[in-house]
Amino acid sequence: MDKVKRVALVAHDNRKPDLAEWVEYNAHKLGIHHIICTGTTGKMVEETLARCNESPQSLKKLKSGPLGGDQQLGALVAEGEIDILIFFWDPMQPQPHDVDVKALLRITVLYNVPTACNRSTADFFIDSPHFAIPYDRKLKDYSHYINRSI
Ligand code: PGA
Repeated sequence: MDKVKRVALVAHDNRKPDLAEWVEYNAHKLGIHHIICTGTTGKMVEETLARCNESPQSLKKLKSGPLGGDQQLGALVAEGEIDILIFFWDPMQPQPHDVDVKALLRITVLYNVPTACNRSTADFFIDSPHFAIPYDRKLKDYSHYINRSI
């Protein structure tokens, strides 16, 4: 992945204030990257960055999570179009689209995409030297699962 990253940001409703605070705190660092969000998170991130006078390289808003946004994001991961996922999901409340959330988290593990699900991990990510330089993300070869004889 390049020096300029494609950073996906998602937060469930109860975690949106936490993500807004994190985005505000890191607005300057995020400004040089491309941002991809699920719909409602995207609006919140856009407003937060605007308040901080930061405009990212680009900000793409997918559908809202419950309407398929997490699945769209999963497809982008599978296409190699997401470098980092920061996903503040709600550990205290079930969601109507829990299966989509699980699928998204599975696909980021499969494609070795760095995934932060809480603030500390997001802090470690953004302060990592890898965030600001090109990084060679290794992909595991799973072909033996696919090519097995049946
Ligand atoms: P939202 O979706 O950004 O549209 O709220 C997030 C999610 O629920 O996965």
